[in-house]
Amino acid sequence: MKIDKVEIFDIHCPDRPQWHPVFIRIFTDEGLTGVGEAGLAYDWGHSAAANMIHEITQALLMGFDPFQTERLWSKMFREGFWAVGGGPVIYAAMSAIDTALWDIKAKALNVPLYQLLGGKTRTKLRTYASQLQFDWDKEAARLTQPDDYAKAAEKALKEGYDAVKVNPMLFDKDGNTLSDLTRLFPRDLLNLVHDRMQAIRETVGDDVDILLECHSLLGAASAIQIGQEIAEAYDCLFMEEPVNYLNSALHEKIYDKVNTPLAAGERLYLRHGVRPYLEKQTVDILQPDIGLCGGITEAKKICDYADLYDVQIQAHVCGGPVATAASLHLETAIPNFFIHEHHTYALKAWNRELCLQDYQPKDGFMVPPELPGLGIELNDAVVKKSKVFEVKK
Ligand code: MG
Repeated sequence: MKIDKVEIFDIHCPDRPQWHPVFIRIFTDEGLTGVGEAGLAYDWGHSAAANMIHEITQALLMGFDPFQTERLWSKMFREGFWAVGGGPVIYAAMSAIDTALWDIKAKALNVPLYQLLGGKTRTKLRTYASQLQFDWDKEAARLTQPDDYAKAAEKALKEGYDAVKVNPMLFDKDGNTLSDLTRLFPRDLLNLVHDRMQAIRETVGDDVDILLECHSLLGAASAIQIGQEIAEAYDCLFMEEPVNYLNSALHEKIYDKVNTPLAAGERLYLRHGVRPYLEKQTVDILQPDIGLCGGITEAKKICDYADLYDVQIQAHVCGGPVATAASLHLETAIPNFFIHEHHTYALKAWNRELCLQDYQPKDGFMVPPELPGLGIELNDAVVKKSKVFEVKK
């Protein structure tokens, strides 16, 4: 079997102009196709990822045997100049390509992808409602009042979730984004964070888990402050991305001072990126993004590497439906699965319409896709309205 055509989609959603999933669809001479997604749907970088996929496709993909995932991965890593140096754009591109090849392989063998990763270690995946500060509804909002946070949590609870994640520090009382929280919080801002968390805890009760998201916006001192004053006080299941990833020693400092499990990993690439966190044992839940960490090939290795340190896995999922499907397969197969992330963007029509299948949780659980391959196909009627690059043999 040989690759004979590739399409790359840089998606533009008219109803959500800041949302840009990047998909690849690989065609073979035997009529099978595979899809993958780059993990740069939000913020800056999507067009760079689409162009990087385009360039790698032109350099390596035409005529390649899609079964040789390990060989292609090594070629992408070693033959270009930049991959051995790091960065989200090159790894997002490699991840999308690798994932699409696994889709083709599993389809050729007529099995769901999880079967090639070791088979099922579970039949359903506990799932949490992610990013309540944007509300839990059909439209995204910027929640400010503690009452609104309570109502968002209540909506998730009604759908059967027993775990919710929130960043109560993303917006100030007027809904402006708080982008620099590296200094110690002044008392009035800390009180606002307390009020939001208190409102959620009172609404969900003691039996529902609250996950505290920090989006790497804190500094070492404010992360310790928030860890001790918020994460510990509201008995959070974990505190996510307390600080940036550029100095892993910061994580050690927080790990020593905060008595809440730490989660991190959505901006780490390859086994190389997670190595200091695992070897220093400063992370409890690792969150690799299959669209960034090196695709299915590398994600499986990262999960196995984490297992060595008793670190559990929650794949980071904030993308289009292809990213969701890929994560479900990985999480179904690995023994150290912790919990599945269902982002509030995954509820939105502008995201769900991008593919023909729509994997949504029921009563707080996801079930693995059972169609051959990833079990997800692009909805051409929608995705072909966006920019498409095509490469043919
Ligand atoms: Mg996160």
